[in-house]
Amino acid sequence: MSTSITNIKDHRLLSATWLASPNFNERPKGKNGSMSVDTIVIHNISLPPDEFGGCDSDGLHYVKALFTNQLDWSAHPYFKSIEGAEVSAHLLIERDGRVTQFVPFDKRAWHAGKSSYLGRPECNDYSIGIELEGSDFQAFTDEQYIALTDIITAIYHAYPKTRRHLTGHSDIAPGRKSDPGEYFDWMRLRQMINQNSER
Ligand SMILES: [Zn+2]
Repeated sequence: MSTSITNIKDHRLLSATWLASPNFNERPKGKNGSMSVDTIVIHNISLPPDEFGGCDSDGLHYVKALFTNQLDWSAHPYFKSIEGAEVSAHLLIERDGRVTQFVPFDKRAWHAGKSSYLGRPECNDYSIGIELEGSDFQAFTDEQYIALTDIITAIYHAYPKTRRHLTGHSDIAPGRKSDPGEYFDWMRLRQMINQNSER
């Protein structure tokens, strides 16, 4: 049995490094007053685009700086184009498989933007957002697939309704978003998740 299924406590992934983002709010309550999390959205992000591991002068990874409103917009010409953005995700998986959590899973992170999944708008309301450090034009690393598999297995266990709804940003915001991109191997991920749950 994989140990990863016990890896979430109090809506936090125990194996992740915690770095609080101010960019979140409450999820809307459902009809019966309960919070509903039933979807996982996969993204890619890199700052600047297609460059990995970049850090500011304090050694803070640019993506972590963005998600915590600490990005110096003047540090790179591209950053000007996103100046003032207030965004987040629940999790970031770096190229080496390191995982950072920014928002507890029961709170609403700001990762999807204008979106719709199976006819339901506002995917941020009911989804968990996972960012892979990557781009639409490069393969993801083995370490990222391994970390993502363990994380999804843990999320499936903690939030069973998510088992039926694993999707990508490009699927919930078609025409507007292209991530995680054609290099993201959905087949490989699904096979790894299945193998993990059989263990
Ligand atoms: Zn995205």
